[in-house]
Amino acid sequence: MDSGKAPHCDFCARPGTQVPLVQSPLKEAFICLDCVTHIHEAAKQELRRSRRFRGWKMPKTSPAEIKAHLDEYIIGQESAKRKIAIAVYNHYRRIAALLNQKDNPPAVRVEKSNVLLIGPTGTGKTLIARTIADFLRVPFAIADATTLTEAGYVGEDVENVLVRLLQAADYDVESAQIGIVYIDEIDKIARKSENPSLTRDVGGEGVQQALLKLLEGTVANVPPKGGRKHPEQSFIAIDTTNILFICGGAFEGLDKIIARRLSRQTIGFRRESSASQQSENLYAYAQPEDLRRFGLIPEFIGRLPVIAALEPLDEAALLRILTEPRHALIRQYQELLSWDGIELHFSEGALRQIAREALKMGTGARALRSLLETVLEDVLFQRPSNTKIEISEEDVLHRLAPLRVAG
Ligand code: ADP
Repeated sequence: MDSGKAPHCDFCARPGTQVPLVQSPLKEAFICLDCVTHIHEAAKQELRRSRRFRGWKMPKTSPAEIKAHLDEYIIGQESAKRKIAIAVYNHYRRIAALLNQKDNPPAVRVEKSNVLLIGPTGTGKTLIARTIADFLRVPFAIADATTLTEAGYVGEDVENVLVRLLQAADYDVESAQIGIVYIDEIDKIARKSENPSLTRDVGGEGVQQALLKLLEGTVANVPPKGGRKHPEQSFIAIDTTNILFICGGAFEGLDKIIARRLSRQTIGFRRESSASQQSENLYAYAQPEDLRRFGLIPEFIGRLPVIAALEPLDEAALLRILTEPRHALIRQYQELLSWDGIELHFSEGALRQIAREALKMGTGARALRSLLETVLEDVLFQRPSNTKIEISEEDVLHRLAPLRVAG
């Protein structure tokens, strides 16, 4: 700085009369607080970007190891976990091969296998998708198919599915391009009737068509902050070729479609298997043609070559979910209360009773959390420190009694 001149910011050149300045320890340089804030933000963003997904390498693993990892978090669902472990392993093996041989692409083009998870609500579909993404250390986003519409209609453009992925990747496009997107309630965009009708089906087929492009691989222009596209906005181009899409839905009624097909195909199927049919999960037999009857268009089904069915959770499974997974709900509450010096225990009967109540609610494992909140409300409110609390079956019955009256 010239000795005669008034001090100014050496970054933006504004004088100290306009902005507060900080002087360098060398006393020759100044910076204004606006520039400090600006640099701080930029540095934070840069750090975040480089920290998480940059230079992604496929972890050394195998389908069996992926399955074993899923086992730590997800109870039951053996068949679905196995299928998804294979699909995910193949998907990332393929990406790893492409990354290794950038200049010399593999002779055989291996196509990706997006996954369709069929199963009732609260049985672990989202949890499976999220657990896989965490394991592989790739960005993960969840979208809800019911909020999507074709471009130009009220609702979200399908590209918004990618906005969340981009956000999860801290706006690092390269990372987003190898991420996983879980699209929930995919059954809700089924066409209402099997025959294409003359009236436009805004919510259903149009959305399937739009999603189809993302699923098969396209370069999508994404508005960085989401929302509707408008001309003045700048877009970020995202190539979806290597993004793994996992779609999930309950597909209520699909079992009847499957049963009809099976009884048509196998003479005497009903007679032979009527006894086991009650307990058997018909969804496990889902075929592309059943999904077409349900109202998905063939091209869309074609982009979901891996179909896995999840079982409804019975009382025994719900009981295990309470205590066994790595982040089991009971463990969570025990941890939370231990911070206030409270030792929390449940009797076997208490846990069983909670599982029984959850089963009645018909929302899978989702019911467990709200039931526990109700059972533990007094403890959670009073926080009687340095105590040991034992929840008995009677406590559970007592606490949940009002629910039963209301229900
Ligand atoms: P959905 O099938 O509707 O996607 P989620 O995966 O979101 O269900 O499950 C809701 C919650 O229930 C999860 O956060 C998880 O804690 C629990 N849960 C559901 N299914 C299982 C399961 N099979 N094993 C362990 N926890 C489960």
